Amino acid sequence: MGSGVVIVGAGQAACQAAASLRQMGYEGALTLIGEESYLPYQRPPLSKTFLKDGAGYDSVQLRPQSFFETINCTVRTGVRAVSINRAQHLVNLDNGESIEYESLILATGARARPYPALAQAAPNVHYLRTVDDATALAASLSRARRIAIIGAGYVGMEVAASATQLGVEVAVYEAAPRVMQRSIGPVTSAAIEGVHARRGVQLHLNTPIAGIHHDGQGGPLTISAGSVAPYTVDALVIGIGAESNIELAAEAGLDCGRGIMIDAVCRTSDPAIFAIGDCTEQTHPVYGPGFRLESVQNAIEQGKCAAATIAGKPQPPAGVPWFWSDQYEHRIQVAGLSADHDQFIVRKPQADGGESVSQSVWYLRDRKVIAVEGLDAPKDFMAGRTLIKSGAEVNPDSLADPAIAPQAA
Ligand code: FAD
Repeated sequence: MGSGVVIVGAGQAACQAAASLRQMGYEGALTLIGEESYLPYQRPPLSKTFLKDGAGYDSVQLRPQSFFETINCTVRTGVRAVSINRAQHLVNLDNGESIEYESLILATGARARPYPALAQAAPNVHYLRTVDDATALAASLSRARRIAIIGAGYVGMEVAASATQLGVEVAVYEAAPRVMQRSIGPVTSAAIEGVHARRGVQLHLNTPIAGIHHDGQGGPLTISAGSVAPYTVDALVIGIGAESNIELAAEAGLDCGRGIMIDAVCRTSDPAIFAIGDCTEQTHPVYGPGFRLESVQNAIEQGKCAAATIAGKPQPPAGVPWFWSDQYEHRIQVAGLSADHDQFIVRKPQADGGESVSQSVWYLRDRKVIAVEGLDAPKDFMAGRTLIKSGAEVNPDSLADPAIAPQAA
């Protein structure tokens, strides 16, 4: 069968690449190497249902063992790739083994960004990236009366919602002036802040942390920040973003920026090595240089893209980037990137006297939709994705009118 394709990482992107390679008719050997002790699983539920329903790993597994057997893919879990010998096409593992590849796919993902001022680990200080992290956090939440969260990104706000729903008192500290600043615009941020405030979450925006005092043994932690009174909690969650796992690639001499640099078909600077998912960076044909996405949709699309390149098949059509976040019973859905908009429109259904927070925010450039953010507005989100893809002009006045379906002018 020859040396075939080796995939380093066994997450969302790796799983997709393996499945797509077989779907596209690739017949060579296929090996997945994952440092975690689990078969590939989904991370989005880890900050959402996983914390609330105690369902465990089985609820997030992407594919059963039998699937990998069916597609004749060897999955090696609990083993880490430590270096790449590009001249000899070898991946070296931490157990001393080396695996030969014809094509190598790096799907190493990202890790939670460490909080620099908190060098000392403690059992009640949590990051959230893996199923083990989520299991530990769920155990802490089951005992906690109060927690603090540093960082109001989507992970922080989802944990805030889940903990609140479990009856835990929550305070969120964020240095930026609004929540989820990197993922959504100010109008949607304000709506989300309202949702959390109504549930009793204490939101401290514009509030960098001044100090965290704890015994390192799991005892209470006291958070000091700006003019906020010191707050003592049972557990602390740090959600200040993610960093790409680029070290394996960088040490092998592959071009890296904030991610492993890839071209439009997911090739790195070595034509035999590909990279996919959260670990990548590229110059995007529409969004330009320095483009990085950390989303399931990107992991899936790049998994398919690398598979098509290796299998010699046509590239699947590129989709519009999209992302979602669930908080309480609300769903936020974002499509496209809004950075270069010259106009935005808020579309809200007529007030119905109920408690609906449903709205969508549309970002236009030259009267064309470049991004849409829906809060409990799935139809607007779907229509927005179609309009972004079509590149058609819209009538801003019609778009603002909830009685008229979003459509091309
Ligand atoms: P990962 O899923 O991180 O997988 C990479 C794997 O590679 C890891 O298991 C890692 O341990 C392994 N690995 C790394 N280095 C090595 C090595 N040297 N040797 C062997 N193995 C290695 N996205 C959304 O679109 N919507 C959401 O609502 C959403 N919610 C999220 C909530 C949480 C709590 C988190 C953490 C992420 C969320 N995401 C969400 C992001 C989404 O999960 C990621 O974009 C996606 O998992 C990326 O897939 P990946 O395969 O690139 O990386």
